[in-house]
Amino acid sequence: MHYDILIVGGGHGGAQAAIALRQAKFEGSIAIISAEREYPYERPPLSKDYFAGDKAFERIMIRPAAFWAERAIDMMLGQRVETVDAKGHTVTTSDGSVISYGNMIWATGGSPRQLPVEGSNLRGMHVVRTRADVDRMVEGLDDVADVVIVGGGYIGLEAAAVLRKMGKKVTVLEAMDRVLARVAGERLSRFYEAEHRAHGVDVRLGVEIASIEGEEYVTGVRLADGDVVPAQMVIVGIGIVPAVAPLINAGAAGGAGVDVDGYCRTSLPDIFAIGDCAAHANDFAGGNIMRVESVQNANDMANAVAKSLTGERTAYHAVPWFWSNQYDLRLQTVGISAGFDDTVLRGDPHTRSFSLIYLKAGKVIALDCVNATKDYVQGRLFVTEGLSPTAEQLADTEVTLKELAATLTAN
Ligand code: FAD
Repeated sequence: MHYDILIVGGGHGGAQAAIALRQAKFEGSIAIISAEREYPYERPPLSKDYFAGDKAFERIMIRPAAFWAERAIDMMLGQRVETVDAKGHTVTTSDGSVISYGNMIWATGGSPRQLPVEGSNLRGMHVVRTRADVDRMVEGLDDVADVVIVGGGYIGLEAAAVLRKMGKKVTVLEAMDRVLARVAGERLSRFYEAEHRAHGVDVRLGVEIASIEGEEYVTGVRLADGDVVPAQMVIVGIGIVPAVAPLINAGAAGGAGVDVDGYCRTSLPDIFAIGDCAAHANDFAGGNIMRVESVQNANDMANAVAKSLTGERTAYHAVPWFWSNQYDLRLQTVGISAGFDDTVLRGDPHTRSFSLIYLKAGKVIALDCVNATKDYVQGRLFVTEGLSPTAEQLADTEVTLKELAATLTAN
């Protein structure tokens, strides 16, 4: 078997790469090999409306099932690439097939980080990465009254919001001294902690987990201080481990992900990497090497690679954006806040509509906008242009960000 372009991973990045190649009139052969059995689907609803039962699976598919065959994109589902021979331009899959390629796009995302304590393999322990994970969770929910969520990141908090709506007793255990510590400023963390508590979630911070209690099924989570939180279900949301072992074993540079250059090229010939697994120098994070876990990043990297492979060498340079839905709160983020040295609050969190604006050396680098879509849309320009308003100007809600940007760019 030979493909001109072999895509490994049928998630957001892999699917978009194939779509963009065909849109660019690429006429060579394309295949997607993906470990999951489903045709490509959207992952964000897994901790939101799909989990809540508000959206059927068909509604979260990236394209209808027939799309892929119509575009002559071969789908090899339920297959994993185990090894890569970079020199020979071949891969070996879990069923022993050897497939050769002209170019390869590695878009494998990552697998959920496991909790390194005793009892982690008991029944009733869950992660949220795939449709199968969520279906398993939903199946077990009827018999569950108490849920413990380990990790106060976006996925954990979104799951907590859904579970509260279902009437479950929910405890969030966070190791750091605030939720969302990896991705947001303290004010946003405190706002979300207060919201979850107001909805009845027991949010515990600075917590260390000693073990998971239970015989066959989980019965509770034992904390380092000896306290046991009862639970018939535990959801672990503590990040991912990038799925890059076959590439690293083949000699690709990397470690925490696979390293790519400005064109998403790995150090191996004719192998690109995109999405969650790709460690790159992000233009919107001062060129710092990082992996970005978002749909935007996966899609825009895919688009850049598709362009490069169809004749227009294109560097990855796209404004990062992200969203999270919890209760009636819609958070929209633009930019990357890591490394900020100042924040400005625009609006009043008590009204449940406000923005937290991040600055570095006087320049706006990111905005977290809660129920404040106008700020999110208009704030984008501040990030792309690196505008330097004063704190007073940013905090003044009498002036729209669009008006403020116009004043600043005119000067
Ligand atoms: P993925 O979409 O994870 O796809 C990778 C695919 O590769 C998987 O199907 C995997 O099984 C497969 N694979 C792995 N190894 C191999 C192998 N060796 N061989 C073959 N196939 C392999 N982002 C947002 O922007 N907004 C959100 O609100 C948001 N919410 C999220 C909620 C949840 C519950 C999750 C899990 C993620 C969420 N994200 C969100 C993040 C977003 O879904 C990811 O950033 C995005 O899916 C990354 O795309 P990807 O193509 O890199 O990886």
